[in-house]
Amino acid sequence: MNLGIDAKPYLLLLRREHNSRLFGKLMSRVVMKFGGTSVGDVERIARVARLVAHERAQGNNIAVVVSAMSGETNRLVEMANAAGAGLAEDQFNDEYDVVVASGEQVTTGLLALALRKIGVPARSWQGWQIPISSSDAHSVARIAAINSPQLNTSIDGGTVAIIPGFQGMTEDERLTTLGRGGSDTSAVAVAAALGAKRCDIYTDVDGVYTTDPRITSKAQRLAQISYEEMLEMASLGAKVLQTRSVELAMAKKVPVRVLSSFLEPGEPNPGTIVCDEEEIVEKQIVSGIAYSRDEAKLSLIGVEDHPGVAAIIFGTLADANINVDMIVQAPSRTEGAVNMTFTMPEREADRAKELMNASKAEIGFQNIIVKKDVSKVSVIGVGMRSHVGVAKIMFEALSKKGINIENISTSEIKISVLIDASYTELAVRALHTAYGLDGE
Ligand code: ADP
Ligand code: ASP
Ligand code: MG
Repeated sequence: MNLGIDAKPYLLLLRREHNSRLFGKLMSRVVMKFGGTSVGDVERIARVARLVAHERAQGNNIAVVVSAMSGETNRLVEMANAAGAGLAEDQFNDEYDVVVASGEQVTTGLLALALRKIGVPARSWQGWQIPISSSDAHSVARIAAINSPQLNTSIDGGTVAIIPGFQGMTEDERLTTLGRGGSDTSAVAVAAALGAKRCDIYTDVDGVYTTDPRITSKAQRLAQISYEEMLEMASLGAKVLQTRSVELAMAKKVPVRVLSSFLEPGEPNPGTIVCDEEEIVEKQIVSGIAYSRDEAKLSLIGVEDHPGVAAIIFGTLADANINVDMIVQAPSRTEGAVNMTFTMPEREADRAKELMNASKAEIGFQNIIVKKDVSKVSVIGVGMRSHVGVAKIMFEALSKKGINIENISTSEIKISVLIDASYTELAVRALHTAYGLDGE
């Protein structure tokens, strides 16, 4: 299996660029996004400036989207939490956004300065100046629209626009943020608004790997990955791209490339191209393994088995905005009763338990068990649609390592299992090997 650097997808992208150039200046906009580690200090920002200058020298008009410097958002989150401890959400969330959105502002100014220093005209634009309009769901807002005419004019005049990721603004002009990792989504949204021919996501790895390279050194960079597979990878835990950014790229057909920010301009840096399935040159049955430790399992024991009981349980959780996954209903030891088990993000587990207890009389159950030390490990691949036996390989590989499966869920292109959290890395490595993904 050759997952190494393959020239074909890159050539495809170049051909697309060549074609788009034929359509004139309008199509020669490029969005470059740099994550927190990539702008972690002034030296790294200087390298980012060189990468931007190089891209501009290729004849492109550039908008850059930046994250806060690494560690900065966490620092701001901690301060906001400390200052507002105990406040109700409606008193806290809007000002939390004012605090945490500021990290990105600093980076925009620093990069504009670094670019000017090497003779490249540049200016920063804050989210509210463009504006980037969003919903009013503070701390997890969604971009609604980007008003880009002014931005277009500026970048088409040759000035590099530096835009903070993560930031939005509500209709009544309050700052919002887009959820952790949200700068990826800002970048794709800006690329869509500008009609950019590419959205390049520069990060601290040189592409999307078959699994998190921090878990195994045998992970291999994928030359290409389909939008659908990337969407599953991201939503199942691979934080290299925020899930929403992939959704948006898929919906708006924005060509996305993930590549390293640690190389100098001109060094080979093919990265991973996220594209339509039809464009994939070398199709794999399984493209990657993802994991998420942010999971908890809640079991309702001895639930009275009558029509409508699931509607009450999951309706209650949905009304409270708790995202439930992996639902299993099994017979209980008690005659006429069932056990209902489901998973959710770990941070929601206590709230879910309270809600279930509050509806105990209405639902009718004997006991609740919450388990937080679980993780979800998933194998993803569009090849599953047409190949049988993919699940068997997974179950055998886990069984050989003595790893017990607590829950299973599947979709057309993924299989996820819930396991004890202490086996996470072992499971990922075993599956990586079992599906033939190991590199040298
Ligand atoms: P940035 O700050 O640039 O947004 P992130 O930390 O959000 O970067 O995302 C990059 C990280 O994602 C990598 O350092 C890597 O550990 C992690 N990651 C998880 N799964 C994968 C994967 N399948 N391929 C590449 N990176 C992955
Ligand atoms: N700075 C924000 C975060 O750390 C957004 C981002 O980097 O994408 O989550
Ligand atoms: Mg990120």
